[in-house]
Amino acid sequence: VQTELSPGALAIYVHWPYCQAKCPYCDFNSYARTTISEADFLRGILREIETHRGFLNGRTITSVFFGGGTPSLMSPATVGAILDGIAAAWRMDEGAEITLEANPSSVEAGRFAGYRAAGVNRVSIGVQSLRDDALKFLGRLHSAEEAREALKIADRLFDRYSFDLIYALPEQRPQDWEKQLTEALELANGHLSVYQLTIEPETAFFDLERRGKLRIPLPDTAAELYALTQDICEAAALPAYEISNHARPGHESRHNLTYWRYGEYAGLGPGAHGRVHRGGSKQATACLRQPIEWLTAVDRDGIGWSCEDALPMQEQAEEMLLMGLRLREGLDLDRLTRETGHGVEAGAVTQLAKEGYLVGPESNRVLRPTRQGSLVLNAIVAELSKALRPVPLSTGPAMSRTTTEPDRRPHSTEARPA
Ligand code: SF4
Repeated sequence: VQTELSPGALAIYVHWPYCQAKCPYCDFNSYARTTISEADFLRGILREIETHRGFLNGRTITSVFFGGGTPSLMSPATVGAILDGIAAAWRMDEGAEITLEANPSSVEAGRFAGYRAAGVNRVSIGVQSLRDDALKFLGRLHSAEEAREALKIADRLFDRYSFDLIYALPEQRPQDWEKQLTEALELANGHLSVYQLTIEPETAFFDLERRGKLRIPLPDTAAELYALTQDICEAAALPAYEISNHARPGHESRHNLTYWRYGEYAGLGPGAHGRVHRGGSKQATACLRQPIEWLTAVDRDGIGWSCEDALPMQEQAEEMLLMGLRLREGLDLDRLTRETGHGVEAGAVTQLAKEGYLVGPESNRVLRPTRQGSLVLNAIVAELSKALRPVPLSTGPAMSRTTTEPDRRPHSTEARPA
């Protein structure tokens, strides 16, 4: 199990907040109406880089991720200028992964060569479906043919690329999903993200569902589709390395692994989150969500944060559980204790393992959910969080020996993106 992060490694997330239209299922911090110019966005990001450099000096950048919103609406020149700013502020690791999220419209795919020349070495394409009727339902502006074309261009230009698909759409039949996923796997290079449609508050789909005009599959059907997804991807040698992410060995998203392994990352741009060490503790940072407010704060203070909170050790342990249990490699219990001073009560682990939700940690000190456990991960994490106890760091056992039976069983079915 390879869960260690290199010392001094820093990942950088850059959030571009605009899209051409708002998709009805999306609760990301994205806006269809542009309120700050691309030049102003660039100025703000470069200033945030300067400010971060002041307290994160000596770090090595292992990945940069341009997310959004739709970062492929940015010109390659802007992307290049941001990467130049990062390279001037820190040492770039030789194998640094530079990902840009892109929509597969023909215009955006036409910019892929420019992004590559600017330093991007991986694209993550928001295909979402290879069926035109589903794309229409999801409010996407591209066609299935454009998506296939964009994947071909990515394949020509990049050694590593990924694309997203959404399943468990209303009335989606397992045989239709199987056919589509099989086609997708033929187009995939080494990485595929497969998300179950979930209805998030404050989205257009949320309103439709509330008014009875939208019904997503029942939990049992969704679980069946999830199992089918795992089986098909495993058979195609793209097993899940995270709940919704599948990769051939070596093609895992290094950037996202930093989140799941609870490493250090800086979040730049409107609404971006970070976890950075500052002033002797791990800080949770979040930027102002509205682009204009973010830019005003950056111009005034050099950084667009709406909050910066020192995370208590218990909260760090909870976050580490939440992230680490998403991974197939699991969570190293000794690392949990080393970094947070907390262990999980042995009784809670044994009980969840007995019920089939966890692979037992006895032999290798690693905690990981079974496939059944992955379906109810939030509930498993809630159980384990209740069983966290401080452990003296000098002795360092990862599991406390006190035993208390969990008083609530996992109950919800979910398999959704982070
Ligand atoms: S799903 Fe992607 S393209 Fe659609 S609104 Fe959200 S961020 Fe924009």
